[in-house]
Amino acid sequence: PPLYKQRYHFIKQLVDKHKPKKVADLGCADCRLLWMLKFCNCIEELVGLDISEEVMKETMYMLSPLPSDYLQPSERQLTVTLLQGSVAHKDPCMLGFDMVTCIELIEHLEAKELEKFPEVVFGFMSPAMIVISTPNSEFNYLLPTVSLFRHPDHKFEWNRTQFQNWAVSVAARYDYTVEFTGVGEPPHGKDVGFCTQIGVFVRKKLRNVEPERFEEYQRRVYKTIFKVIY
Ligand code: SAM
Repeated sequence: PPLYKQRYHFIKQLVDKHKPKKVADLGCADCRLLWMLKFCNCIEELVGLDISEEVMKETMYMLSPLPSDYLQPSERQLTVTLLQGSVAHKDPCMLGFDMVTCIELIEHLEAKELEKFPEVVFGFMSPAMIVISTPNSEFNYLLPTVSLFRHPDHKFEWNRTQFQNWAVSVAARYDYTVEFTGVGEPPHGKDVGFCTQIGVFVRKKLRNVEPERFEEYQRRVYKTIFKVIY
């Protein structure tokens, strides 16, 4: 299967294993991962965030209920929300999540945004689990069409050491553990790592500050562009 499907499949397996109720996908783009996750019965709240309203608007109709959802309503309540905003800014509506996914997002961030990202996602949102994927530059020479980066909008592409150093230091700062894996196996006998590298971060402690308490004094900065309740 294509690489993006392997990435989504990886997330789906994690969801099936850990059964999060509230999941947010940061840099959700065309909402394909959200669309897949809406079929996971454990999930009661799905939120997608992207800086580009246009990219979400093109395909967000996919997230609307189908006639069958009304004809055979399920027991669980599911709310799907799309938000326009940046991962460099804190918004109280991102508090209280069990899982946050950032699939092929960080390499699109400007240096200033990447600097703020850990404090927003790990420090502020502080979900139980965070999954971050990014290209592994060591794999690039196996991709014939790649010159500098795999995509013109990429601000950087890291090798395994660069990604792991960044991830380990962020995890230590915000009291998470991190484990590394990936999708896209290298050809037999080549030690270049996975095509897509993935870090799975798990928060060490239970939250000690209740999300509701923040909400009183944090201003909303994200814009809701879509909301549907199943
Ligand atoms: N996650 C999607 C997937 O797996 O198919 C694709 C992600 S796409 C390669 C990167 C996305 O990040 C784009 O849709 C872009 O608009 C979004 N993005 C870039 N900078 C952002 C920021 N500061 N905050 C939120 N989203 C951002």
